[in-house]
Amino acid sequence: SSTNIVAGNWKMNTDVTSGVRLASSVAAGAVAVPGVQIIVAPPFVSLAAVRDALAGSSVGVAAQNVHAEDSGAFTGEIAPPMLVGLCDYVIIGHSERRQFFGETDESVGRKAAAALQHGLRPIVCVGETLDERESGRAVEVIRRQVVAALADLDPEAAGSLAIAYEPVWAIGTGRAATPDIADQIMGGAIGSTIAAVLGTDVASETPLLYGGSVNPANAAEFAAVPSINGALVGGASLDAATFLEVAAAF
Ligand code: 13P
Repeated sequence: SSTNIVAGNWKMNTDVTSGVRLASSVAAGAVAVPGVQIIVAPPFVSLAAVRDALAGSSVGVAAQNVHAEDSGAFTGEIAPPMLVGLCDYVIIGHSERRQFFGETDESVGRKAAAALQHGLRPIVCVGETLDERESGRAVEVIRRQVVAALADLDPEAAGSLAIAYEPVWAIGTGRAATPDIADQIMGGAIGSTIAAVLGTDVASETPLLYGGSVNPANAAEFAAVPSINGALVGGASLDAATFLEVAAAF
């Protein structure tokens, strides 16, 4: 894809007031970073206020999760139609949701398909744990996660999908993957799996984001890898100037 994407996953940080302030600062600085699609992913309760604060700016909005059903008796959950008009993107299958909230390969696939049906662009996260990497299973795990994520998709709609490779051992640890490791997985396993499931056209159009301890000091080395089309940023997205420095590297 031609336009790189840099998305800030705020996780369970910021309230409405501080979220609006952060989003507004990002929007003000984003004009100096043309050619990069900058996205912020605030908590659900701030989506409307952040959307309003970003009106007229180039910064996109993502939700951090979504349910697969359109409505029903699912206390505490948010359905895809509820997000329409609030955000353009939705992060699906983040490793923290897989680890702490029972997200499975199968639920990720259903959520990605549901999001696309409602015109939301899924940013599907995949990534191996340290144990899986050290036991030589990283590629196998990534292939399995990508196959499951794509399993239910309408191939016609798949062009609006993005995939984030976030090795679990690199998230919040200050220990980013090396560009070589990221390229092996993203240019190798992820690209070839998308091609096998949805064809080479979709594979070449699907933005692949690297995530895991991305910061202004290492962003440029990831941006230099041809198979990497952007970043999914956690901690470094909570300060506007820091986040914009990362975005500028892409
Ligand atoms: P960190 O950038 O804090 O390592 O988090 C990465 C991440 O999980 C983004 O979704």
